[in-house]
Amino acid sequence: MNPHYNPAKPHHRPDGFQNNYTTATDKSRSELIRWTWEARKAGLPKPPQTPTPEVKADLAFVRANIGAKQVPAATWIGHATMLVQMGGLNFITDPHLTERASPVSFAGPKRAQPPGISLADLPRIDVVLLSHNHYDHLDEKTVSVLNKQAGGAPLFVVPLGVKAWMADVGITNVRELDWWDSFTVPSANGTAPLEIHFTPVQHWSARGIGDRRATLWGGFAVFASDFHVYFSGDTGYSKDFLDTQAKFAARQTPALGGGFDLALIAVGAYEPRWFMKEQHVNPEEAVQIYQDLRAKTAVGVHWGSFNLTDESLDQPPKDLAAARSAKGLAEAAFGVMAIGETRRYPKRPAP
Ligand code: ZN
Ligand code: ZN
Repeated sequence: MNPHYNPAKPHHRPDGFQNNYTTATDKSRSELIRWTWEARKAGLPKPPQTPTPEVKADLAFVRANIGAKQVPAATWIGHATMLVQMGGLNFITDPHLTERASPVSFAGPKRAQPPGISLADLPRIDVVLLSHNHYDHLDEKTVSVLNKQAGGAPLFVVPLGVKAWMADVGITNVRELDWWDSFTVPSANGTAPLEIHFTPVQHWSARGIGDRRATLWGGFAVFASDFHVYFSGDTGYSKDFLDTQAKFAARQTPALGGGFDLALIAVGAYEPRWFMKEQHVNPEEAVQIYQDLRAKTAVGVHWGSFNLTDESLDQPPKDLAAARSAKGLAEAAFGVMAIGETRRYPKRPAP
């Protein structure tokens, strides 16, 4: 039973939620068995030929980059976890800084490399953006540690239905959003308040048995006067991105190259296509999302840390490079980062 069920909303179901444009993200048990069997037979995923690039994080910069003197910056911690500094605040997307993406500590997908910044070294986080409740995105230990950070808990922004899970683990500073819901938080650099919008993507949710699609999933659009960011969470390719672009079209500044200065788009966990296509884009489709959104730049996330599917851990950047050249795009438009790397971005000019 979905306590949030609103029959006026097409993506609401009495027992949960559904996607806007397909129901094919639901795979049968026999399809799951076929995928597992075929992957085992073929010895997939193959180990990567090269480790995910990593650099030592510039902790001094990251810690000092707050408040009025802040410049927009993004630091890749690994997988879908990005520390975004904008509006004078620190945001983190889908924070996962522990050893495994799994309900148990002794089994399940293990991190290939340590997070770019350890939990102990993270700067104080103001806002946590959670895209959905899959184990590689919502990690109980990480959110519990963040909830007890010095200076008070961050604000956790979660999809409809996830607030109850947060309450069960003792996290109460939570804002729950439906698709297209938004709210503002005060900026910390004296500029206009910043807006957080929850946007539809094509995926699903589950943490246990019998809770498939019981809670919502989505992406985020965050607007501060100095920077505009989009985060896809996990998604298949759909018309949702053109819808998102249309929704925020009024904010586009053609001279600045689009409405979002930076789009964080998932580029990993896409093989085999017959099983993954509806729920995880491949790099070629990720580039299409970047173009649909008319973002100025994009960084590929959701790769390089946890090997969840059949492609090797180092395959997504190679496929992304091929997709980019097919479209004549520069690496600066849509590339990947090293774990621990910080990129600084120009501030949007004052309106
Ligand atoms: Zn997922
Ligand atoms: Zn994922």
